[in-house]
Amino acid sequence: MLGVVLDGDVVIDAWERPTPTGSIADDGRAVLEQLTALLGDVLASRPGAEAATIGVGLPGMLGADGVLLAAPNLLSAQGAAIAPRLEEAFGRRVVLANDADCAAIAEAAVGVARMHDDVLLVTLGTGIGGGIIAGGRLLRGGRGYAGEIGHVVIDPGGPQCPCGARGCWEQFASGTALGRLARDAARAGRLAAVLDEAGGDVDAVRGEQVTRAAAAGDAEALVLVEEVAWWLARGLANLVAVLDPTMIVLGGGLATHGELLVDPVRRLLPGMLEGGRSRPGIEVVLAELGPRAGAVGAALLGRGEQ
Ligand SMILES: [Zn+2]
Repeated sequence: MLGVVLDGDVVIDAWERPTPTGSIADDGRAVLEQLTALLGDVLASRPGAEAATIGVGLPGMLGADGVLLAAPNLLSAQGAAIAPRLEEAFGRRVVLANDADCAAIAEAAVGVARMHDDVLLVTLGTGIGGGIIAGGRLLRGGRGYAGEIGHVVIDPGGPQCPCGARGCWEQFASGTALGRLARDAARAGRLAAVLDEAGGDVDAVRGEQVTRAAAAGDAEALVLVEEVAWWLARGLANLVAVLDPTMIVLGGGLATHGELLVDPVRRLLPGMLEGGRSRPGIEVVLAELGPRAGAVGAALLGRGEQ
């Protein structure tokens, strides 16, 4: 986890603490301990600061009362009343938001999408996260759950998703999807270089090894990246039909190899859109703020922006 202090739009200080990875629910004790220590570091560095609101971004679905309702990637804190507990500890107002929403706020305010009011931010990692800026404002939805774009079902007969459904978009267009395709290819006798890197163990093949091999020009790895890019473009076209953004920002681990994934998406997307190529273009770009985007967005949120 990361804490930042902003002066205007610029990060002037940052702190990092390990994120507890336990999967046993402990009412958020381990997560709150680290968050409290991190926020303690941040606040101690600014003794003269006004009683500012604290903004916190977390992975998962957040209730309006500051409870982390569902968090498959932060299971130990699922159900914990994060905001009330931090408010009690620090005597300040604490606002929470989903981390992809925070990244969208940051990219739209001070990042690559700062000239755009209608932005779709997509984080591609183990799963797919989303943040939607519509008319210059974060789209939260009626209960705060908007933007769960990774769990739009695109093939009801598709692979099982941890959310309980089958064939969610993130099962086709994330790092997990690339890993699955790669293991299938390795079992079929392809992808020798990647399999080598995984020590010859098919089950140890991961998406990031494929992106690395593709970036180095491995033809078989490039075919798999192209397949994931097709599914990515397909899902983006569906979202464009609903949201009509002027810019799509791609971030997260799977997007770290720059144009490798973005180029095929740019090529494929226009032909998949309603209105086809006669429609005004939608810019597809890489996120600019990197791993700090979520923390910057949370800080902006704390400052009352959004
Ligand atoms: Zn799902």
